[in-house]
Amino acid sequence: MAFIPYSRQQVDDDDIAAVTAVLRSEFLTQGPQQPLFEAEFAAAHGVAHAVAVSNATVALHLACLAMGVGPGSRVWTSPNSFLASANCALYCGAQVDFVDIDAHTRNMSASALAHKLEQAEREGTLPQVVIPVDFAGLPADLREMRALADRYGFRILEDASHATGARYLGLPVGSAWADASVFSFHAVKIVTTAEGGMVTTQDPALAERVRLLRSHGMVREAAQMEQVPEGPWVYEQQALGYNARMTELQAALGRSQLRRLPQMHAHREALAERYDGLLAALPLRRPARRADRLSSWHLYAVEIDAARCAVPRARVFQALRDAQIGVNVHYIPIHTQPYYRRLGFRPGQFPAAEAYYAQALSLPLFPMLSDGEQDHVVATLAKALQA
Ligand SMILES: *Cc1c(COP(=O)(O)O)cnc(C)c1O
Repeated sequence: MAFIPYSRQQVDDDDIAAVTAVLRSEFLTQGPQQPLFEAEFAAAHGVAHAVAVSNATVALHLACLAMGVGPGSRVWTSPNSFLASANCALYCGAQVDFVDIDAHTRNMSASALAHKLEQAEREGTLPQVVIPVDFAGLPADLREMRALADRYGFRILEDASHATGARYLGLPVGSAWADASVFSFHAVKIVTTAEGGMVTTQDPALAERVRLLRSHGMVREAAQMEQVPEGPWVYEQQALGYNARMTELQAALGRSQLRRLPQMHAHREALAERYDGLLAALPLRRPARRADRLSSWHLYAVEIDAARCAVPRARVFQALRDAQIGVNVHYIPIHTQPYYRRLGFRPGQFPAAEAYYAQALSLPLFPMLSDGEQDHVVATLAKALQA
């Protein structure tokens, strides 16, 4: 059997036609596709504003800046995430800290957050922004976090990079609870533009600030200018922004992909359910489900149950890779990275994230995965767990 990756993009003829049409058009960047993609993404997520940017790392950075994060600010996130969830605060000169995860959902624990906030209030070290991560596509405990945000006065920047189209308490992720949400369109994610990101928010001022920072902090409309323009050529720089724009090629691809989001979700959900059944008898902890939320199933991550299986994770991983199965591990806890250790973090600080990581394995999951391939993954895994 050919190599089976843990994730693979689905690009069809409509996607190719959409990108080709842009190549033949007048605008390769700053044309009509990007605002259309924003409007359609906002509509699909039931949110007032969506701002497209070059990738989700930049989206997190700009959203932090738009929330006023800077030197002296404190930002907390989940250690069980990709590096960007924490790096975005460091880009702004802020101080980063972590909140340990819930062992079942693998998302930031709302009770650990509540506990850490009580302590921070006593010490006068409350955070300005908290970044929960919808790990594997399962929305975080956003309602509990909203209540804490209102009580302690921080803003919620949801890293929904895994969670395009996921739902929480009957609403699409990105539409409620968080002050802003960030989505990734990297090739391995739910919807892809090769590289790309989006910030969604119900707050017009926040959306406007991200738009400003996306393009050099520059405005071109007279109504927005601080000074009376000398002529129609005048543009004004009002903040220190960046070039974080999405190209027309990417936006056209995103629009085309977004049309298939319901089908792609249905495939992922069916495969996840199939894994749940096929893996039930193995010494594994399967992903948690919660009745009040729908995962987008970016990842199907299992945890080898050490109490029932003595085979080291590294051996299981290698056995699957040797069989041409592209398992992966999500995530090495951010605070254990050398760079973060140099900032003073130590292994042992966030034990639930570390315990999960030690036994974690992400199995192949993408819309085009066939039942036969999935059976092959399960059979190979079952054998590896016995070895
Ligand atoms: C992929 C990812 C990012 C970064 O996304 P890019 O679009 O690759 O910059 C950030 N956070 C999480 C949780 C991710 O999985």
